[in-house]
Amino acid sequence: IQEIQLKSRPEGMPTADNFVLAKGSISPIKQGEFLVKNLWMSVDPYMRGRMIDRKSYIAPFQIGKVLEGGAIGEVIESLNPAFSIGSKVSSMLGWRSHFVSDGAEITILPNTPISESHFLGVLGMPGMTAWTGLNRIAQLTAGETLFVSAASGAVGSVVAQIGKLMGARVVASVGSDEKAQYLTSLGVDAVINYKTCGDLDAALGHAAPEGIDVYFENVGGEHLSAALNHMKDHGRIAVCGMIAQYNDTAPTPGPSNLAQIIIKKLKIEGFIVFEHWDHYPQFAAQMGQWLAEGKVQAEQTIYEGLENAPDAFIGLFEGKNRGKMVVKLA
Ligand code: NDP
Repeated sequence: IQEIQLKSRPEGMPTADNFVLAKGSISPIKQGEFLVKNLWMSVDPYMRGRMIDRKSYIAPFQIGKVLEGGAIGEVIESLNPAFSIGSKVSSMLGWRSHFVSDGAEITILPNTPISESHFLGVLGMPGMTAWTGLNRIAQLTAGETLFVSAASGAVGSVVAQIGKLMGARVVASVGSDEKAQYLTSLGVDAVINYKTCGDLDAALGHAAPEGIDVYFENVGGEHLSAALNHMKDHGRIAVCGMIAQYNDTAPTPGPSNLAQIIIKKLKIEGFIVFEHWDHYPQFAAQMGQWLAEGKVQAEQTIYEGLENAPDAFIGLFEGKNRGKMVVKLA
């Protein structure tokens, strides 16, 4: 049994030294329990927040303890009739090769033709985040202009695609030309490479000359500032994430143009996807249909081996992924 533990709390950008691959232990299964071998695990930007010792919507990770996160595994031994050998299960017990469970907070995956890894991405938490932000927070409607940042990532790539399916004009920002091409291939109307465009504010004005109705915020900082300048009157901002500041070591000043919120009578709403989980069946039915019809592309970037999970996690802050970043466990 192997697991990745938090060795020290990152200061700024996480490094490999903040993690350690350690030997874990599990006891033989008892009546009502089963043993799971993890096949896939997720790395997500929110895990950076859990590495800080502070009060938030989710408890911090502890030094010297195994990390946690979304994972997909297979039952390989069972003394629980509800979890038979061979069942594929989803859990929050990632960052480890195996675990024993009595079934609490473990979900059996439905049989679908697509790879079970997509339950960590387009059919899982990130896909549900995209759908929730557009439908339940921003209430995007056909004909509107949608701007999405971190648009080639797990959440952003689904936001862009659902945005097109909902009939919006979609403007996206990404950190490389190769990612920009990928978004164009998905039918996105205008793409900005925020690293090479020079003045993001001007580039956004050029990409959305008619103004923005909905901004799906994943990045914060300069992106938020530029978006505020180009929002239409009564525009909506669904605040999903602010990855540009997750590694900051000191508080950064907010945008200097917050008065745009008043001038344009904007509605800005943050959300946490887990509070909307009662709508997961509705989302999954819709997304399952879109995937089956080929209307949504399920992109992922795969790192192999538990020992490479820290690199995959750090890679999120370096833009190493296109679509969902996942780790395939040996
Ligand atoms: P992604 O798959 O989008 O991976 C992160 C991407 O962010 C990178 O590929 C990189 O792409 C971009 N990025 C990294 N650093 C910066 C930076 N400094 N400035 C601009 N872009 C940057 O991750 P997710 O899709 O999982 O998450 C996207 C956002 O959604 C995050 O902010 C996350 O915290 C948030 N989130 C919120 C949830 C909620 O419930 N509110 C649930 C899930 C996610 P590039 O090459 O384009 O720079």
